[in-house]
Amino acid sequence: MTQVTEHGGGVWSLRVPIPDNPLGHTLVHVLDTDRGPVLVDTGWDDPASWDELTAGLAALGLSVQEIHGVVITHHHPDHHGLSGRVREESGAWIAMHAADTAVVRRTREAEPGTWFDYLARKLATVGAPEDHIAPLRAARASGRMRTLPGLRSALPDREIVPGELLDLAGRRLRAIWTPGHTPGHVCLHLEEEHPSRLPGHGRLFSGDHLLPGISPHIGLYEDPDDATAADPLGDYLDSLERIGRLGVAEVLPAHQYAFTDAAGRVRELLDHHEERLTGLLGLLAVPLTPWQLAERMEWNRPWDQIPYGSRNIAVSEAEAHLRRLVKLGRAEPVAGTDPVTYIAV
Ligand SMILES: [Zn+2]
Ligand SMILES: [Zn+2]
Repeated sequence: MTQVTEHGGGVWSLRVPIPDNPLGHTLVHVLDTDRGPVLVDTGWDDPASWDELTAGLAALGLSVQEIHGVVITHHHPDHHGLSGRVREESGAWIAMHAADTAVVRRTREAEPGTWFDYLARKLATVGAPEDHIAPLRAARASGRMRTLPGLRSALPDREIVPGELLDLAGRRLRAIWTPGHTPGHVCLHLEEEHPSRLPGHGRLFSGDHLLPGISPHIGLYEDPDDATAADPLGDYLDSLERIGRLGVAEVLPAHQYAFTDAAGRVRELLDHHEERLTGLLGLLAVPLTPWQLAERMEWNRPWDQIPYGSRNIAVSEAEAHLRRLVKLGRAEPVAGTDPVTYIAV
């Protein structure tokens, strides 16, 4: 049973399931415009998810063929997965920020081995033990490389330009660039009075940037060709403050549920990250590689119970935190160490 929620003022959300994922579902938003309905995100590319998306539209008296456009908050497969199929069926345009479009293009064009080589090299650099890297090398050598999600994801045909109103007939939807969770994540500010006249300035489609009960994953941007030391956690914290200042009446996130008090939630997340960074400085009283730091950080279960792929994500998150601490001058690499260790200063 598709669950449809009416948010008022020509906005609805559809719960589109994400198979085998504790997040459960993506909230795909439908925005009525003078040229037809526009979707904010589309959901995971899976037959059951597609059925739920189309059933949700049908419950609103819409067919997928009527979709006029698709606005994507970020390139992750639970948001962008079904965009290609929606475009095939309807001829809708797909809009995305250029930095995430670059990720989509890179993923589509990469040789299957490129990602494995990058990951193996990177894991060695961060101090992963040989028994963690060996399965990657073995898969690469045998050619048995699991297909990555996103390999077939659709290339957008429109660019979301930060600060600009999207070209939507009869609506005021402004793009706010909120890098951090991905390099091209955007929130979308619906600058119209709240339909129930809640105090504040309009509503915000927040994607994964601002969620009521989850702190989104912030890892490295993982661009094999980018040698510059990006600071995704710094980007994310700056983006959070920017969103907090908008003073929106209500937040419509891409997971969980809609909520008010965006500024309060932003404060909670800023405090959470400050606490976490301080906790990491305690661990860095002795020199640690990013891998050793990840092993000692607090996760939702003990390190030895974290599955293989999630460890890679965890170490990326540890690195993002180290980048931030180094940038703030609160930690530094220890000269002459290989793999490089870091220590609090
Ligand atoms: Zn995401
Ligand atoms: Zn998501």
